[in-house]
Amino acid sequence: LTSVRYPLLKRGNFSFLSDRHLGFFQSILSAHQVLTDELNDLSGYNVDWMRSVRGSSRLVLRPKTTEEVAAILQYCNVQNIAICPQGGNTGLVGGSVPVFDEVVLSLELMDEVISVDELSGVAIVQAGCVLEKLETVLHLSNLALPLDLGAKGSCQIGGNVATNAGGIRLLRYGNLHGSVLGLTAVLANGQIMDCLNTNKKDNTGYDLKQLFIGSEGTLGIVTQVALQCQPKPSSVQVGFFGLNSFENVLETMRLSKRNLGEILSSCELIDQSSLECVTTQLELRSPINNFPFYMLLETAGSNASHDAEKLNSLLEILVNNGTIVDGTLAVDSAQAKNLWELRERISEALACEGYVYKYDVSVPIRQFYQLVEDMRIRLGNLPIRCCGYGHLGDGNLHLNITSQEYNPILLNRIEPFVYDWVCQERGSVSAEHGLGLKKRDYMEYSKSPTVIHWMRRVKKLFDPNNILNPYKIFPEQSSTD
Ligand code: FAD
Repeated sequence: LTSVRYPLLKRGNFSFLSDRHLGFFQSILSAHQVLTDELNDLSGYNVDWMRSVRGSSRLVLRPKTTEEVAAILQYCNVQNIAICPQGGNTGLVGGSVPVFDEVVLSLELMDEVISVDELSGVAIVQAGCVLEKLETVLHLSNLALPLDLGAKGSCQIGGNVATNAGGIRLLRYGNLHGSVLGLTAVLANGQIMDCLNTNKKDNTGYDLKQLFIGSEGTLGIVTQVALQCQPKPSSVQVGFFGLNSFENVLETMRLSKRNLGEILSSCELIDQSSLECVTTQLELRSPINNFPFYMLLETAGSNASHDAEKLNSLLEILVNNGTIVDGTLAVDSAQAKNLWELRERISEALACEGYVYKYDVSVPIRQFYQLVEDMRIRLGNLPIRCCGYGHLGDGNLHLNITSQEYNPILLNRIEPFVYDWVCQERGSVSAEHGLGLKKRDYMEYSKSPTVIHWMRRVKKLFDPNNILNPYKIFPEQSSTD
């Protein structure tokens, strides 16, 4: 069997789903946990958020407990049934949907917030809990999440952990390798790996939980997470500024980090083309227009007058020396939300234009925007748009190119040029989205053969039969590997 959309991919030698298999799953789960209706139930699980990867799974399993996940995996391992773990299905690299007929293991019914300790700031959560729901619960205890992203209304904490999601707070709180104190994972053979540590410090041997953070469902199913949360900031300021050159952008970032210090919580970049897309496609209103670059700065602190003083004195410097030309500060949370939408809904706006060629790269900060400019020259008027935005403060650029429909000529102009460019700068071809299916063939641009060899050995150790998210992360192995 060969996938229609991915003609070079071959189905692995896994079992085909039989009535006997189905009977087993129905014997250990209730009826609403086993979905088989292709027309009414399965389609949403078979297609990704970008609608660019489509599988043909005939079965979705929705366990409610770690033990149910363990029973499913133990059986699948013995029966050689391939599994595709799925969280909120907001991933952007085609990792969360089956490629062929893998059984979808959805975590959506495991959505309980198990405990929140206001004193230590530790929350223990089932993996299927939607990020926004967790945020709402944490606010009741005056706590805040250490991560935030545009997909928070749908993505799940387990999916965030599995992708090591970055987002708009990474600048302040670091990535999930630091914020996840512990987790429970079910291994391919059904064994439950209890790493649900809640201590801030734990140096008793290898920290195996780290392996699951960013493993994209290939090493185990994350079922519970212990997260170090942060005190909810009582004062939040959001500013949106227009700048005339990328040098001014870098200067604004440099001085913001230096002068705002510990209260700087976001430092985002939007270029003119990205802003134009979000304002025209989604009819959002921008308070300022006609600048080549825009920056969104956010501070989060505990003392409103102290924070305002810091931001105002920074802005005085930047406006007086002509670095920032125009801008606005949100006066309330509704305005702050509107400003954030200009940044967070760009992905959605781009998708309205047709087909999106999406690149999520880490590049040295001085070269951050050069890639967009080089790409524009290279593509001429082939695409509708070639734009750049992203987490400037973390050196993470989202380069996006759109065309009315999928165009192989355009793709050949973009790739492998984009990967060679990033590799030459010693950047990363996947900064925060992971490799999934769509980026797996480009791993070698950021990782050496030795590193890839050892990654494969880890995968083999944890999942010798390759039942967990096959076809993802690793490039197809050649006979000489
Ligand atoms: P899914 O998409 O369902 O799955 C992602 C991967 O994790 C798949 O490989 C899947 O098999 C695996 N997986 C899911 N759950 C589990 C589990 N419990 N155990 C083991 N494996 C599992 N990403 C960022 O990093 N930063 C951003 O700022 C950002 N912004 C976004 C904005 C929008 C509008 C959208 C649509 C996406 C954005 N993303 C961003 C990408 C995406 O939201 C993240 O990758 C997110 O962490 C995926 O979570 P999910 O629950 O949707 O996982």
